[in-house]
Amino acid sequence: MSLISVEDAVARMLKGVTRLGEESVPLTEARGRVLARDLAARRNQPPFRASAMDGYAVRAQDTPSGAWLRQIGEARAGSHFAGTLGMGETVRIFTGAPVPDGADAILIQENAGADGDRIEVLEPVAAGRHIRAAAFDFREGETLLHAGRRIGTRETALAAAMNHAIVPVRQRPIVAILSTGDELVEPGEEPGPDQIVSSNGVAIASMVVACGGLARDLGVAVDDKQAIADAAAGAADADILVVIGGASVGDHDLVQPALAEQGLKVDFWRVAMRPGKPVMFGTLGRTRVLGLPGNPVSALICALVFLKPLIGAMQGAEGGEPTRLLPLAAALPEVGNRQQYLRARFVEWQGRTAVTVADEQDSSLLATLARSDALIIRSPFAPAARAGDVVAVIDLAQALS
Ligand code: AMP
Ligand code: MG
Repeated sequence: MSLISVEDAVARMLKGVTRLGEESVPLTEARGRVLARDLAARRNQPPFRASAMDGYAVRAQDTPSGAWLRQIGEARAGSHFAGTLGMGETVRIFTGAPVPDGADAILIQENAGADGDRIEVLEPVAAGRHIRAAAFDFREGETLLHAGRRIGTRETALAAAMNHAIVPVRQRPIVAILSTGDELVEPGEEPGPDQIVSSNGVAIASMVVACGGLARDLGVAVDDKQAIADAAAGAADADILVVIGGASVGDHDLVQPALAEQGLKVDFWRVAMRPGKPVMFGTLGRTRVLGLPGNPVSALICALVFLKPLIGAMQGAEGGEPTRLLPLAAALPEVGNRQQYLRARFVEWQGRTAVTVADEQDSSLLATLARSDALIIRSPFAPAARAGDVVAVIDLAQALS
């Protein structure tokens, strides 16, 4: 099978993916989930004219410099002043308090002098000053968060302000994760002399959780067809099975043969990308199977390119991975037939933010990845680029947060 482009591979993977069902969850537990329905405001915000400052509610026309006003009461956040302001009168007011009837401005306390209940105007104030109109932020019935929006901190704040304590979200896809390799031990175990710690399983699980999925770590299977098949049985009810390693078609690469016996139908298994050529995608019953290369950086970049959109599609999440356009701080050579994802750093260059590639692009280097700010994406056969040329960039702090 020849190489297929990243774009084609992603499109083939997403073909026929349907959204999971919806469920209601407390807003406090909704982080990372995707809204299944539009959310409309259940109230006006603010629900009344509100003071934006601490000071005195006044009639603007009563505030020439040096005027004296009579304080007739107080309004605090949570308790309004019941009366109406008349000529020459003022009400002491605090941030968030309802503005009394009759008042049309807030004289901030820094511009007022107080002598008992007599308040001196030190600076005039214009009508409307420091008053938030009712529904200034949003109005009851307004749809402010749409289906497909992933719930993060801002969405949580807004949903809460709209008074939604329970929100409708898509069910979490179950993502089973199987690491393969004789050389691997779980983090915290003591590796033998020829062994290394399996970092990919926990890393991919972390990404799954960040994407709103349910991660099921199936641990490590040794390089043996039966062992891989047995371990993969733990994914029978999963929406997605991620198998890491054993896909580069060396002597010990057994994932495809092991799963073929279970009924795996391979859709594609070589993608024109660097790192990450040996990505495999197929189906095993109702489970979608994604084979990722074992090299830790390759595994994460391929998970970013394939697993994240797959989980997103199952949740009906809007939007793909955001990219920015930034100038290069240093030249880059022409690209071969595989799309490149280059680890890079943000730098100041000629007075603006630019990117420059990390010296080491070896796809086993997790410390380099952790030090990197971005991935520069370069299309297959792109010509050599000079300093100042603009390239598309993925921000790693967002993409692999
Ligand atoms: P493979 O794709 O199995 O040929 O593995 C390629 C490289 O990635 C080898 O150096 C493996 O030791 C390494 N590797 C495979 N799986 C993992 C893992 N779960 N964690 C860390 N490194 C891995
Ligand atoms: Mg291996």
